[in-house]
Amino acid sequence: MTIQISEPRSQAGTAGPHLDIDLGAVAANTRLLAARASGALMAVVKADGFGHGALDVARTALAHGATSLGVTSLTEAWPLREAGLTAPVLSWLNPLDADFAEAVRCEVDVAVPGLEHLAAVAAAPGRARIHLHLDAGMARDGAAPAAWPRLCRAARRAEQRGEVEVVGLMGHLGCSDDPGDTCNALGRSRFAWALEIARACGLRPAQRHLAATAATLTDPLSHHTMSRVGAGLVGIDPSRTTSLRQPMTLTAPLVSVRRVRAGTPVGYGHAYRTPLGTHLGLVPLGYADGLPRTASGRAQVQLRGRRLPVVGRLSMDQLVIDLGDTGGEPGETVTVFGPGSAGEPTVADWAGWAGTIEHEIVTGLGGRIARRTRPVAHLRSV
Ligand SMILES: *Cc1c(COP(=O)(O)O)cnc(C)c1O
Repeated sequence: MTIQISEPRSQAGTAGPHLDIDLGAVAANTRLLAARASGALMAVVKADGFGHGALDVARTALAHGATSLGVTSLTEAWPLREAGLTAPVLSWLNPLDADFAEAVRCEVDVAVPGLEHLAAVAAAPGRARIHLHLDAGMARDGAAPAAWPRLCRAARRAEQRGEVEVVGLMGHLGCSDDPGDTCNALGRSRFAWALEIARACGLRPAQRHLAATAATLTDPLSHHTMSRVGAGLVGIDPSRTTSLRQPMTLTAPLVSVRRVRAGTPVGYGHAYRTPLGTHLGLVPLGYADGLPRTASGRAQVQLRGRRLPVVGRLSMDQLVIDLGDTGGEPGETVTVFGPGSAGEPTVADWAGWAGTIEHEIVTGLGGRIARRTRPVAHLRSV
């Protein structure tokens, strides 16, 4: 027989809004992605683990199938090492004057998108572990194809001088959220060409990686030796093909309730007037906490198992809901979003109301919301 024993939730004040993060969901998503990837899995924990806590997501992903970590800047890599994580870490976007010497000391791999970066990294004492970065078709980061052969030759010479070790080749797909888009095949063939060039220059990197979450779920031809997944770990599937688990639940107490007459204007600009007499509830969350102001007029929350509209404009620190005949008492808990399993709004709903993507909602949640992390439940045989 198997029973689930979970540790007590970490302590946080009981008053005010709370963001609960279920690491069990991150663990389950990691296992699913690791099973889908033909190669290894890199857990991308940039932007504080997409707002879920970089260290928590990193530790959880490494315990459930990921074998390395990815971050944007080196400044995001240092805390992972300071916390004692020893897994390989790759940082792919840094200015030329970034502390590459410290990267070598901490054994953090860095991506190299061009000759200037190669020179800066090679100048650091010791032998830097680098991933040459190809622009696979976004005109964003990475070397343009025209610059790629020269970059490969220069990297090979730096390798022969003992300044660097080329351990990886990377690219990134611009349209993988739409698996049918021809831009994916174009990106894949550009990457395949780049691997050939690197090989012809004498480079033998063990890691070749192109796929992020969407391509890991929909495009096996892009997998190569490793997938870099971030969004999928926290339940976001840009390809909308796979059901992932949602780690975040945002709740807040109802601060006050007032009875109003029909025609009462609500909030800044009187953007809304109550059509009937009703009760309005005040919730202490606003756009400074990361709830998008552009969701005003569309957003909903849940109270007593029912969806209720956010009325008037969302303010910086507060929003007003129309309680209608649902009722509500100060101190009751309002669910702003959650996994959706009990009918509450989801992060995807909020993204839709604001005309944006889930990524922007989860990475934008403000620092003044108290966070509680629920650890992965341990399965223990009895
Ligand atoms: C953010 C990022 C990823 C992860 O993409 P997801 O779609 O979140 O999985 C992978 N590679 C690079 C270069 C990135 O910037």
